[in-house]
Order: sequence, then C-alpha cells, then structure tokens
Amino acid sequence: MNRKPIFAANWKMNMGVSATEDFLKSFLSKLQGQSFHAEIVIAPPFVSLAKLADILRSPSASNEAQAIQIAAQNCSEHDAGAYTGEVSVLMLRELFVHYVIIGHSERRAIYGETDATLNAKIHKAREANLKPIFCIGETLAQREAGQLEAILRTQLTAGLKEVSDKDLAELVIAYEPVWAIGTGVTATSAQAQDAHAFVRSVIAELYGPDSAAKLRIQYGGSVKPGNAAELMACPDIDGALIGGAALEPQSFLEIIRNGSCTQDS
Ligand code: PEP
Repeated sequence: MNRKPIFAANWKMNMGVSATEDFLKSFLSKLQGQSFHAEIVIAPPFVSLAKLADILRSPSASNEAQAIQIAAQNCSEHDAGAYTGEVSVLMLRELFVHYVIIGHSERRAIYGETDATLNAKIHKAREANLKPIFCIGETLAQREAGQLEAILRTQLTAGLKEVSDKDLAELVIAYEPVWAIGTGVTATSAQAQDAHAFVRSVIAELYGPDSAAKLRIQYGGSVKPGNAAELMACPDIDGALIGGAALEPQSFLEIIRNGSCTQDS
C-alpha cells in the first residue's frame, strides 16, 4: 500500500506573526526546486494562520509553497456563539485551513479534553470538510502498567464513535506516546512500529482491512533529523507530527528529506 507520508509541524504556542514570516522566508527558499514523496503541513498558533495563508496562498507563491497544507492546532466543537476564546471550524475554513489537530496530549492533559469532546470535534471538523489529525497515545505509567493496547483501543473507539467510513478516509491518526513528546526520548522504532500495527489492527476491526490499509498513521514524539529515517522506514509509520524540531526551518526540512527518502515513491 503506497500511503503518502505526511510531515506536520505542530508549532504549539510558538511563532507569532513575524516569526512565522521569518520561518517561511527561510523554509521556502530551502524548499525551492525540491520535491519529496510527502505531504508537508504546518500548524501555527491561531494568530499566525492568516499570515501563513497570505504567503502560501498568494497567487505569486511558488508551487512548493502552494503545496504546503495549513493546519490548526485545535477547533471548537460548537458552531458559533458564547464560547469565549474558542475558534470555529468555519472561521478556520476562511483561512484556507485544511487539517486540524484534534486530541493532542497537551489538550487532553492540560485542558481536560475528554474522548467525548474530541469525538464531537472530529464530527464538527468533518462537517466543515476539515481533515482531522487525531492524536492518541499512552502515558509512561500506562505503558509500564501494561495498559498500552487498552488505552489506544479506548481512545480510538471513543474518539471515532459514529465516524463514517467516508470520514475516516479523510482523517490521519497521530500516535504520540506522551512520554516521548518534548522529552528528547523517542520510542524505539520497534516500539513505534508495534503500536502503529496495533492501531491499524483496531481500525481494521472497526472499519475493515481496506480502510485500515489506506489510513495514514503518523508517529510523534521527539522526531529529529537523526531518527526520522529509521522511524519512517517502519511499514506502519506514515510520516510524523513534529513539535520542537519543526520550529527551525533546516531541521524540519531535514526530517522531511530523511523521512521521505525511505518511503516507496
Ligand atoms: C508534538 O507536539 O506533537 C510533538 C511530537 O512534540 P516534539 O516533537 O517536540 O516531541
């Protein structure tokens, strides 16, 4: 199965408008003339989405720039109204947003987002034709207690409740072991591959083997230029969700280059 790998930069609460402009200037000049068998996605903070869209969707933008997809880091599960501080899916659509990260472990742990909330966000995103990057993953304590598979199964089953086969086809899953996010500790390629294969097997139970075979599953957790090739060479790993190492244009580009050269073209 030739799944196009997807490399997504999750800038978290970094990179305001002028830092976004600086990043793109450097990143786009490095990207010029290069082609990868990979989809490139950038998820800036909400306030930088308009700047990203201005640059990447300008009629004079290069083909490489036009091909970069824009993502949001979160969305509201509501349409509009009295939800101070929230951003709706329709507002995101106006800014050329294509993907939305849903269920990042920081949203789950710091902001208390539950499986039910995340499920509502996935449905809301699909109503607006946004593609969810749905994050799942276990804590170290859960892994050490032998709960890895149970946790992943619950997050998948509850998060994808009543998500249709058609909508699943527009979704990406990001497996991110919480203990590897921002810690510098990466899962070994064997640990990551095992978890990805398990996720794919649960999707096969829920949606059938064809849907499972087509689904892209990204790995996230301290991905760097030096470990990208080994991780991406695993048969069930289809790209990466990258935090810290995607804040710097050269290292983001090297991850894409090192990670995509191991994939089928
Ligand atoms: C993330 O934020 O999703 C992430 C994987 O971060 P980092 O690459 O910094 O571990």
